[in-house]
Formats: sequence, structure tokens, C-alpha cells
Amino acid sequence: MRSARADRGGVRDCWDAIVAGAGPAGAATALHLARAGVRVLLLDRARFPRHKPCSEYLSPGTTALLARLGDGVLAAVEGASPARISGMKVVAPGGAAMCGRFGGAPSFALPRATFDAILLRAAERAGAVVRESTTVEDLVWDRGAVAGVITRSGNVRRATCNARIVVGADGLRSVVARRLGLVRSSAPRRVAFTAHVADVAGVDGVGELHVGRHGYVGLGPVGGGVTTVALVLPLRTVRASGRTYGGPAGFFAALERFPGLAGRFDPRRLVRGVMATGPFAQWARTPIAAKGGALLVGDAADFFDPFTGQGIYAALRGAELAASCLLPALARGVLTAAALVPYVRARRREFAGKWALERLIGLGVGWPALTDRVVGRLARRQDLADLLVGATGNVVPARRVLAPLALARLVW
Ligand SMILES: Cc1cc2nc3c(=O)[nH]c(=O)nc-3n(C[C@H](O)[C@H](O)[C@H](O)COP(=O)(O)OP(=O)(O)OC[C@H]3O[C@@H](n4cnc5c(N)ncnc54)[C@H](O)[C@@H]3O)c2cc1C
Repeated sequence: MRSARADRGGVRDCWDAIVAGAGPAGAATALHLARAGVRVLLLDRARFPRHKPCSEYLSPGTTALLARLGDGVLAAVEGASPARISGMKVVAPGGAAMCGRFGGAPSFALPRATFDAILLRAAERAGAVVRESTTVEDLVWDRGAVAGVITRSGNVRRATCNARIVVGADGLRSVVARRLGLVRSSAPRRVAFTAHVADVAGVDGVGELHVGRHGYVGLGPVGGGVTTVALVLPLRTVRASGRTYGGPAGFFAALERFPGLAGRFDPRRLVRGVMATGPFAQWARTPIAAKGGALLVGDAADFFDPFTGQGIYAALRGAELAASCLLPALARGVLTAAALVPYVRARRREFAGKWALERLIGLGVGWPALTDRVVGRLARRQDLADLLVGATGNVVPARRVLAPLALARLVW
């Protein structure tokens, strides 16, 4: 691998790869590349550990990806006293409830502050150079191709960092995707408010999703008697209501309106304040730069809706696919768009089923009558409930749910 020149005395740094964003997608991409000998600079505007608005459940399919990261990552997650989740319960607006089981596949849930720091430090141990509190503000271009990034750290003047490849892993509001001109958005336009609450009544070893006439709530244990609670509402509902959900009073009042949640929370037991994020859905038209030199992973590439809880799986698997494409391209010294096309194809092959399933479910939960019908059906058909929850848990291929017969059984 061609070595990078680091000129820390001046304003220019040169690297093989710069990864913008050190969440699961960025940390895992940096780890895979650095372990193979690539000189990687991993940048994040935050200082870790940092919180991230999320329901913080790792789908059971994620466990194998953590094991593949090696270097004790899975052991560190298991050692962080995570909650263990055995399935997902869904409560429909009309009150029908179903619970699908993962069928023995281990699934963990732990605060993102802990999980993301584990991944970041593993990337660092693999050889990635980490700069926290460093915001990527813009891209550097060379004859139409991306050639680096412009950063700002604290009050320090801007710096230019050059790289043969820039990986945009900077999440939902990706600066890299925006500068590439690739960002698209669509319905459903939802926003989320998340918090940590201790001693929530009735929480056991399954995640819960409570669907209402306007929006839904996801909750589940994250260890230490703490439950992560995510209130997801249509943007128009939030705007029209004139209410503030980002403060404890508005947040808990909204939770009380869901019949399956009323009376379960003590607002005095709020242990991490409400964080807001969104709107989604948002994705990139394509995950590579038109003339090469950059690609997108994780939420920077696509984020539809949090209902199915597959984002961390997609971030880690996307990192594997990005590294599989980038390692031979870096070795050949060719980072043109054509050299990055295998990544586009690999993502399509890997995620086409997931994209279809999450869109079907994400849009479906916006229709109360449809949700009532499907959940009512799944309540009577444990095999179908397990199939659906297995598919969203990334342990059953999505195509098994998307087969016409399976889809018909969900509704009729
Ligand atoms: C309400 C909600 C609930 C969810 N629940 C789940 C769940 O239970 N399970 C699950 O698997 N997924 C869930 N998700 C999805 C999951 O949170 C994301 O898919 C996942 O975090 C994507 O990882 P990422 O690394 O792509 O992005 P992020 O985790 O968002 O990381 C991006 C990083 O980039 C940094 N960054 C951003 N901009 C810049 C910049 N300009 N310069 C430098 N750094 C920058 C940020 O500080 C951050 O550290 C949920 C999402 C939401 C909104």
C-alpha cells in the first residue's frame, strides 16, 4: 500500500483514506482499512464517548458482524453489561399485540455512548489515526474528483487534509453527501425524540414498538435498569401541534397518549435528557462520487425510518462492503468512479431486500387500519411473527417475507 505523507507542520495532511464520521459505519470502515495497512485518518466533530439519538438495540444479525471486527470487539460489547433482547413486541393502534422471537440468536442493547466508543477505540488500535472535535466542513476537489476534506477543530483555523479516498460516514445530515450533491428525501417525513428513563414499569427482555394514530414509540432495556425510549412523530404533527417534545414535560405527555405506555414512566427517573433527530427519510442517489475519490457508508448513504432497527447492522455491513471494494482499488492506485462501482453493486445485492422491507413496514405503520390488521394477523400466527421479526433482525433473508405468498398471509 502506498504510504501517506503527513505534514503536520503545515496545513496539509496526506492520507490514503480519510473517514468523515466515527459512528459505527466510519469506525468499522476505518478499522477494516487500517488493519489491512491503509493509512487512515478518522475524523469526528464529537468527543467520545458521546450520545446518539437511537433505540440502541443491535439486531441479532449484528452479532456476527461484531465478531468479524475481531480484536475483542464482541467481548467488549458483552463485557459492557448490555441488555439481552430475545424478540420484538408490536402493539397496534387498536390494541392488538404480537411478539416475534429471534429464535435463540443473541441480540444486545447498550447505550451508544458505550458501543460507539468501543468501535472507535478498536479502529484506533488497528492503526487509524483518530481526531475528535474535528468537523468536516467541505470537500477538496481535483479535476472533478474528490481529493480530500477541509476541517475545522474548535477555534483553530481551517485545515486541508488530502486523501486518495474520502469515506463519508457522517450520518443522517452528511456534509459529504450534501457536498457531492447526492441527497434525496421522501415520505414519510418523521422526526424522533429519544431519552433514557430508569425503572420503566413492565420492561422485560423484548423490545417494544407501540404504534399510534400519529407516530410510534420504541422502547427497550439497555442494561443497568435503564430503558431507551424513542418517540417518532410525523414532522407535520409536530409542527401542527405547537407542542415541544424536546423537553421532559412534552415528551412524557406524548408517551402517556399511547394506551400500552400510560402510567409506565416516572418523569423523575429521566436519566438522560431528550435528544431530537430527523427528519427522515433521506438517502443518497448513489453512494459514490460522480468522478471518484469518495463514497458513502451508513446513514450518510441511506436512512429510511427507525422502526425496524436495522441501522447499526447496515452501517457495519456497509463498512465491510466498502472495505472490500476499496482495498483492491487502493492497491491498484485507481479510485475512479468505475473502480467504486463494485461497491454500488454489492450494496444493491446486500440491501435490496432490506430496503424493500423497511419501506413496506415504515410506510405501513403510517396507516392505522393496516397496522391493526397485520398485527392482529401476526398475533394469531406465531410462525409469521417470528419470520417477520427474524427478517428485521437480519437473521432471516428479507426475501422470505417479501415472497408474494408470505405478504398475502400477512394481510389475509
Ligand atoms: C430514533 C432512532 C432510533 C434508532 N434505533 C436503532 C436501533 O435500535 N438499532 C439500530 O440498529 N439502529 C437504530 N437506528 C439507526 C442508527 O442510529 C443509525 O443507522 C446508525 O447510527 C448509523 O451509523 P452511522 O455511523 O452511519 O451514523 P452515526 O451513528 O450518526 O455516526 C455519524 C458520526 O458522524 C459524526 N459527524 C457528523 N457530521 C460530521 C461532520 N461534518 N464532521 C465530522 N464528523 C461528523 C457524528 O458526530 C457521528 O459520530 C435508530 C435511529 C433513530 C433516529
